[in-house]
Amino acid sequence: MESLTPQEIRESFVNCSRADAAELPLPPGLHEVDWARREYLGWRDPRLPQRGYVVIPTESGAVGIVLRASEASMRSHQPTMCGWCQDVHLVRDVYFWSARRAGEAGRKGDTVGALVCGSFECTENVRRTPPTHYVGFDADRVVDDQIAGLGERVRRFAQAVVGARI
Ligand SMILES: [Zn+2]
Repeated sequence: MESLTPQEIRESFVNCSRADAAELPLPPGLHEVDWARREYLGWRDPRLPQRGYVVIPTESGAVGIVLRASEASMRSHQPTMCGWCQDVHLVRDVYFWSARRAGEAGRKGDTVGALVCGSFECTENVRRTPPTHYVGFDADRVVDDQIAGLGERVRRFAQAVVGARI
């Protein structure tokens, strides 16, 4: 994805008030982010364990989304596959995150949800070379497909939150 300034990150949020966007904690280590190796930016709120934030690039610009993890999903440590990176090689906490939809739909209480890695580590997961017995010879191709798949799935999530093709 393209690099974003703190200001651009705050302005990208579509499902919270402008005041909330001005207050939300920025991702830790923002100056060290390797943007070329990211299909989206995601981070947890250090003060509110159930709160997460993602910024997803789309053709209409970056879309920032406030997420809330369901308590039940945070408590259960059942192996679950992340719906975004679809990593099946490492067992890790995957939470059910829900997002209020943007605009009128969100004001009426409409939400969109997804099972996603608890620490938003999808971008690292898709770059890991799968075990060779799993992929045959062309591991690079598998990694490229995983990266493209992640990009497509996060974009679809952003579309669902915004409620339009973007
Ligand atoms: Zn993931």
